[in-house]
Amino acid sequence: MERTLAKDTLKRIGEKVELFGWVASLRDHGKITFIDLRDRTGIVQCVGGDLPKVSAESVVAVEGKVSERPKDLVNPNLETGKVEVQIEKLAVISKAKELPFPVDGDGYEIGEEIKLKYRYLDLRRPRLQRNIKVRSAYVAAAREYLFSQDFIEIETPILTKSTPEGSRDFVVPSRLYPGKFFALPQSPQQYKQLLMVAGFERYFQIARCLRDEDPRADRGYEHSQIDLEVSFVSREEAMKIVEEMTIYALTKIGGKIAKKPFPVFTYQEAIKKFGAEKFDLRTPQEKKDGTLSFAWVIDFPFFKKDAEGNWTFTHNPFSRPISDEHEGWLLQKKNISQILTSQYDLVCNGMEVSGGSIRSNSPEVLKAVFEIMGHTGSEIEEKFGHMLNAFSFGAPPHGGCAQGFERLLMAHLGEEYLREVQAFPQTGRGRTSVMDAPSELDAKQLKELGLKVVK
Ligand code: ASP
Repeated sequence: MERTLAKDTLKRIGEKVELFGWVASLRDHGKITFIDLRDRTGIVQCVGGDLPKVSAESVVAVEGKVSERPKDLVNPNLETGKVEVQIEKLAVISKAKELPFPVDGDGYEIGEEIKLKYRYLDLRRPRLQRNIKVRSAYVAAAREYLFSQDFIEIETPILTKSTPEGSRDFVVPSRLYPGKFFALPQSPQQYKQLLMVAGFERYFQIARCLRDEDPRADRGYEHSQIDLEVSFVSREEAMKIVEEMTIYALTKIGGKIAKKPFPVFTYQEAIKKFGAEKFDLRTPQEKKDGTLSFAWVIDFPFFKKDAEGNWTFTHNPFSRPISDEHEGWLLQKKNISQILTSQYDLVCNGMEVSGGSIRSNSPEVLKAVFEIMGHTGSEIEEKFGHMLNAFSFGAPPHGGCAQGFERLLMAHLGEEYLREVQAFPQTGRGRTSVMDAPSELDAKQLKELGLKVVK
């Protein structure tokens, strides 16, 4: 017999079906037992007498006839609440021992360590099943939009070189080159710009970014972003692509958006009006009904002073200044605090959810940025020589953006933590779910890598 899914039992009244799934709950009344069978489409009630012993969360096969429930026994809270399956045969396929925690509630009250140790069980709960499915639907819709706009999807390396995204790198030792290290990408920034030099013109990727920062609610070691880059665009055109993609994809998952088109504030206006570059425009009513309220922020200062009093970039060293005049100041290294960048940030409900800029495609401008930051000629050559070189072979003007869509999903789904929209997140203390990492390497591995651990 062909498998019937739980939600399809509604269409099979009077027929004999075979169902496969998990025992979501079990109510044994002696002569009669109720089993709620759960599969990827939902739950259906199965009922029978004299059944083999089965424990909750075991995987079972049920054969039986779908019947309409008497009017007074209809369960309005269940999609399949109008029917039940009269069990003729119940087979236990894989027995479950007692779970470390219940998986039917929303699970917020359960400790993080235990939940993440058994994340594959935690993920069985309806809330997380929904979150992960909505995430997939958002990404699918964003892809659909981008493909419709002539973008192509390209993967870039995970083993790469340290890039100045403003965070700490995760590094990977090299066996073939002892004492040398790869860095995991903080973002595909440089590769996507090189793809513009390569002539692809419209690139995107669902990119994993790794940054060794202390985890907090809306930030983990790993996050995913919709990373895109476009040649021959103005700042406004680039912003429009991101805005249209966001509206298209959010609408597909039933998101409510406050204002369209998204309002635009300059950095100065934002600071004056909200006292910060990230702000929340929602009314109390919009907060209650889960509305997403977006705004763009533009015209940021290019540079700021770091803790030691040296100039550093505010957002992205590869950005172009806002105009030829500002680019002139940059090249002459004057009015540094007044130079504005073409950076555009998208904020939503008080969080930064996207950021991008028009890039400089001239080696001189890029070099000047690093000189202002105090890098010597040989340091610039060592770290960014490949970019300067690439820009000397015909580099189109280009710009792009990265969207931290997990934060958007958090806001849409009413979740407080990034990990609620990731399948296998790190713990708040920086350890992996399920598998016990970071962990020690054995002596042989260390030797092969030319590493010695200093305690
Ligand atoms: N690379 C930047 C980031 O990851 C985004 C961009 O400018 O495209 O934040």
